[in-house]
Amino acid sequence: MQTANVAPPGAPEPWRDPEAEPYVRIIGVTKRYGATVAVDDVSLDIYRGELFCLLGGSGSGKTTLLRMLAGFERPDQGRILIDGQDVAAVPPYARPVNMMFQSYALFPHMTVAQNVAFGLRMEGLPRAEIAARVGAMLDLVRLTGLERRRPHELSGGQRQRVALARSLVKRPKLLLLDEPLGALDKSLREQTQFELVNIQERTGITFIMVTHDQEEAMTMATRLAVMHHGYLAQVGTPAEVYEYPQTRLVAEFLGTANVFEGIVTKAGATGALVESTEFDAVFESDTDPPKPVGARVFVAVRPEKMRVRKAAEGERAGTNRLVGAVRDIAYYGDFFMFVVDLPDGRSVRVSQPNLARVTELPITWGDRVAVDWPPLATVVLPE
Ligand code: ADP
Ligand code: MG
Repeated sequence: MQTANVAPPGAPEPWRDPEAEPYVRIIGVTKRYGATVAVDDVSLDIYRGELFCLLGGSGSGKTTLLRMLAGFERPDQGRILIDGQDVAAVPPYARPVNMMFQSYALFPHMTVAQNVAFGLRMEGLPRAEIAARVGAMLDLVRLTGLERRRPHELSGGQRQRVALARSLVKRPKLLLLDEPLGALDKSLREQTQFELVNIQERTGITFIMVTHDQEEAMTMATRLAVMHHGYLAQVGTPAEVYEYPQTRLVAEFLGTANVFEGIVTKAGATGALVESTEFDAVFESDTDPPKPVGARVFVAVRPEKMRVRKAAEGERAGTNRLVGAVRDIAYYGDFFMFVVDLPDGRSVRVSQPNLARVTELPITWGDRVAVDWPPLATVVLPE
């Protein structure tokens, strides 16, 4: 299930402030490899102190975009500004940026402390300062006591934290993280997500993090961008993108959505009616209609916003109501997912929280059920 990083009331939201200076500005950036457009005309502003997530499937251009920010690749078109400065001519080591790679790339023959100290030694800092900074950093990532271990003597989670300490110890203003939790198993991953958010908040460093895991992006990000084939499909807070997807692609990429086709039959200031072109039903939405009467649209409804109950004798589909037969019930422990077959061959997914401690459900396979939802749950998508 989804849990968005819902900002507490009063949390800073600089992206809503027209006066706020973005810390990172990506302006019309394109990168090609031969015929492949890895990053396609991306424009994006990121603000100081954000934990910004780039979310997308494999090959969508996430790593390429990070590598351009770090300075390992040059854009073919467009500009990148960091703290107001165009960084086109600035080499990677001179940028206020550090990048934590997908494969942590720890030095196997060095101890934990030596791995973390490496960058500072290269800078030629005095021994005492290096020792103090490494100590403080190992404390921050909870590795105190493991200074003398080598990477092969650590668990996956500990190695991840060494890599993080090594990236942070140089005090970058911007940390780029490429799938930082990819090597961890599920439970360690969840725990580390919280830790990472915590460390980011305590250091105040701006994080740009790449992930292909939508739950991770939802729970961690201040804002996220859904990336697809090199372009940004949508940018917003996790809750905005989840609740107000602007395209079918985003609705289906983030979470689960039932998507139907229809034609707008009524478009008022307070909502729209969409007649299904697939079966006998009407969708009612109470948010502003994005298209005029007669337009072909998609309608998305999330499974957790729908309710399922046994259908009354002779009950038929209507406005925000579908009737069908239960084909499948999946038990997830915390919720049930029902798959309901509609008469025309389509099906719809409905989830219900598991509120009672029951081993027998009132609804079972083959039952005729009605599925309904409120107008607020109907999202009309232009494409
Ligand atoms: P992601 O990190 O989202 O999985 P990448 O940025 O690694 O995606 O890759 C985006 C696209 O660019 C892919 O099609 C990939 O094959 C291609 N690509 C990335 N790096 C190179 C490279 N050095 N040479 C050629 N093609 C590349
Ligand atoms: Mg990648």
